[in-house]
Amino acid sequence: MKRKDFLKKGILGGLGASALVSGCTLSEPKSVESSNLNLNKIHHWKMVTTWPPNFPVVGEIATKMVDWIHTMSGGRLQIDVYGGGELVPALESFDAVSIGAAQMGCGASYYWGGKTKAAQFFTCIPFGMNAQQMASWLIAGGGYELWKEVYEPFNLVPFLGGNTGVQMGGWFNREINDIKDLKGLKMRIPGVGGKVLQKAGGAAVLISGSEIYTSLERGVIDATEWIGPYHDYKMGFHRIAKYYYTPGWHETGSQLEFFANKTALEKLPKDLQCIVETATMRAQSWVLAEFDAKNGFYLDKIKSESDVEIKNFPKDVLLNLNEKTKETIEEMIANDSLSQKVYDHFNAFRKRINPWSKLTEKVFYNSLMK
Ligand code: CA
Repeated sequence: MKRKDFLKKGILGGLGASALVSGCTLSEPKSVESSNLNLNKIHHWKMVTTWPPNFPVVGEIATKMVDWIHTMSGGRLQIDVYGGGELVPALESFDAVSIGAAQMGCGASYYWGGKTKAAQFFTCIPFGMNAQQMASWLIAGGGYELWKEVYEPFNLVPFLGGNTGVQMGGWFNREINDIKDLKGLKMRIPGVGGKVLQKAGGAAVLISGSEIYTSLERGVIDATEWIGPYHDYKMGFHRIAKYYYTPGWHETGSQLEFFANKTALEKLPKDLQCIVETATMRAQSWVLAEFDAKNGFYLDKIKSESDVEIKNFPKDVLLNLNEKTKETIEEMIANDSLSQKVYDHFNAFRKRINPWSKLTEKVFYNSLMK
């Protein structure tokens, strides 16, 4: 299309110009659906979450979302939220929604790597994409269609549910100046990041959230990652660790999720289905905004209330971990064609948008941010 034609079709031919020239162009009213639209029917759903009830940000969003859905639907879709362990154990949420014991869940797809390996790419992989890029891949880059394909065999439909943004690299009681410093390091770090640490000679330890503080304090572990300043401050790590390292190379933008039982979702009238999806997109915005706002505030508190030294991982350490990540992921996706397909798509998208991010976001961060 020539520039002139583009302008004509895109702007002059669009609503703005025609509305100005000839008044509003009203389209014929479209009926949403008539077959199963019963405005008096109230639908009751249960939502199970992988977080403790009202856990800051990620747990709060479940409650907010069901409030929005209640309001938008005029009370026609009512959802009760159950925190992890209230209806089913946190990590059984996926199964509970899959079999229809609950209609909706809230969590992060990398928890379900044991069910289907390909799931983990929809939360994050080390040295993956940041929040903006993940949203771009999922919403506009074809990633969401793949996500639906991965959840389909479980009778589940995924929805976006927020992003933590780039996390912190974690709390350490020894300095990391060289990749060799990771040798023998006992660190609480889950998922693919843990596998990468092990390749570097460290020991990835899996302990539950409630035991991390004591383990670090008593030297059972040498380091731990968690999320970012807001949650980390509440965990109290600044009182017992010497160093707070950045960046969270292992979680560069962890995408969170809602998921619905496909049969239950399809039984809803179309307008309620649209309301559910719309609410998840509002959640997507709120979670990242809340994380950023709170992390900025709590970073300041950590700096002013403790002697913790905030440090960057040396570039060589990050480059080395990046190489080990590539090896780890190649091993992960071998013999699993669906993981290979998702990773190839993820990688191709990342390669395509990185030059754009480097030209704009990176230059902005490097040179303009004070
Ligand atoms: Ca984390």
